[in-house]
Amino acid sequence: MAVNIEAYSTFELLNELRRRYSSLSKPEGRYIFLGPPGSGKGTQAANLHLSHSLCHISTGDLLREAANAPTEESKKLRARLEAGDLVSDEVVLDIVQRKIGTSQCKKGFILDGFPRTLKQAEALSDVLTTKNISLDGVIYFDIAEKELESRVCSRRVHPPSGRTYNLLTKPPKVAGVDDITGEPLIQREDDNPTTLHNRYVAYSDKTAPLISFYSKLGLLHTIDGSKSLEEVKSDMYHIVNKEG
Ligand code: AMP
Repeated sequence: MAVNIEAYSTFELLNELRRRYSSLSKPEGRYIFLGPPGSGKGTQAANLHLSHSLCHISTGDLLREAANAPTEESKKLRARLEAGDLVSDEVVLDIVQRKIGTSQCKKGFILDGFPRTLKQAEALSDVLTTKNISLDGVIYFDIAEKELESRVCSRRVHPPSGRTYNLLTKPPKVAGVDDITGEPLIQREDDNPTTLHNRYVAYSDKTAPLISFYSKLGLLHTIDGSKSLEEVKSDMYHIVNKEG
């Protein structure tokens, strides 16, 4: 997709160049981020994307984008997302496969929200084997269910950038707007207690078994997701920068 650089200020362009330049010295990596909704994996994936220029593949974000298209198919997709039900493996795998093959993902990627079932994990292994790509690790953000509701229901998002805020722990500088662009923040439709419960049940039944799947493959790293954002970030960098 062509980008119109006239739309950005010189300051924004210089900042972006500085970010990319500093990420050149950072290691490549191919990771899966695993954890229940609200465990902080999306926030940390966004941090890692910025610091290391690894592409952030959030299947939830990609599906929400697809659900906004004005078609009958997207109406059905929107209903599944609003209910917190899982979308079919075929649809999700297709989205991931396309994204992994793009030039943005050459230095590596973070899969956030995928795989979510054993079947997806096996399909991913096949795709990666075909492409001759191996995973560097699976980072599991471990956190108890009782801590999730206040995190998820106070979450606010800036959809164009994926930046997330939390009204309790990381509020925006000005209420209701993104710190960088001043554009409005939204609350995701599925970030409410009822849908969260369904999403958590789907996570426990279908996604949690992946913890032992990847542990047996020797790929699993566990982070205590109940720690502060800064502590979790530092634990994540310890793993991806291979600091011991
Ligand atoms: P998330 O933003 O990761 O919490 O995902 C939001 C919603 O997107 C989920 O509740 C599911 O409905 C759907 N979704 C995201 N990733 C997947 C996946 N790997 N498989 C099936 N459904 C998914």
